[in-house]
Amino acid sequence: MAQRNFILLGPPGAGKGTQAAALVKRFGVAHISTGDMLREAVEKGTELGRQGQEYMNAGKLVPDDLVINIVRQRVQESDCEAGFLLDGFPRTLAQAEALSAMVDELGLAQPRVVNIVVDDEEILRRLSGRRMCRECNAIYHVAQHNLDVGDTCPACGGKIYQRPDDQKEAIAERLRVYHQQTDPLVPYYTDRGQLVAVPGEGPIDEVRDAMLDRLAAGPDEGA
Ligand code: AMP
Repeated sequence: MAQRNFILLGPPGAGKGTQAAALVKRFGVAHISTGDMLREAVEKGTELGRQGQEYMNAGKLVPDDLVINIVRQRVQESDCEAGFLLDGFPRTLAQAEALSAMVDELGLAQPRVVNIVVDDEEILRRLSGRRMCRECNAIYHVAQHNLDVGDTCPACGGKIYQRPDDQKEAIAERLRVYHQQTDPLVPYYTDRGQLVAVPGEGPIDEVRDAMLDRLAAGPDEGA
C-alpha cells in the first residue's frame, strides 16, 4: 500500500490533537506530536527536555534544529511505514522547507496539509479553560467537565493539571508567535497544491467530517 502522510496545521487549541485521532483511525498512520514528544522529554529530564523547557514554558518555539532532528528520526521508525501524521510540526517556514527536503531525500510521500481555522477569541477561551491529565494526556475544559487542577482524571485516575503554557500570558505569546511564524505556511503549502482548509469552530464530529470530505475532494486552489 502506498504511504500516506499528513500535516495538521492550526493555532494551539484548534483541535489538532482531537482531529489527529480521526486521521489515525481512518488511514492507520502514526501520530507524531512534537509538543507531546518535547513534554515527555521535559518530564524525563533528558538533554532534549533541558534544552526545550524554557522556550516551552514561555510559549516560545524551541529552535528549528532541535525539532527538525526529532522529526527526522521519528519518521524513520517502523510504525511510520503506512504513513505519518505531523501534529504541531512544521511551525516555521524553515521547518517546512527542511521537511519537504527530508521527505524527498528519504523517498517518502509529500504530506497533505489540513489547515484547521479557528479565530483568536475562541482559542483564548479554549486554552485558558483547558486542563489535562498528567498520566493519559486526556484533555478537558473547566466549563464542560466540572473539574480543575488537583482533581482526578475520570478516564484513568491520574492527576489533572494545567499546562504552564496554557496560562493567559503564555497563550497570548503563543498566538503572537503562531501568526508571525506559522501563518506563512498557508501560502507555502497552498502554492504547492498540498493544502485543504477546514473551519474548526463547530462540533468535533462536524469538523472531522468536513476534514475527511475536503481531503477526498483534493487540494485548495493555489493563489
Ligand atoms: P504544542 O503541544 O504543539 O502546543 O507544543 C508545545 C510547545 O512545544 C510549543 O509552544 C513549543 O514551545 C514547543 N514546540 C512543539 N512543536 C514545535 C515546533 N514544531 N517548533 C518549535 N517548537 C515546538
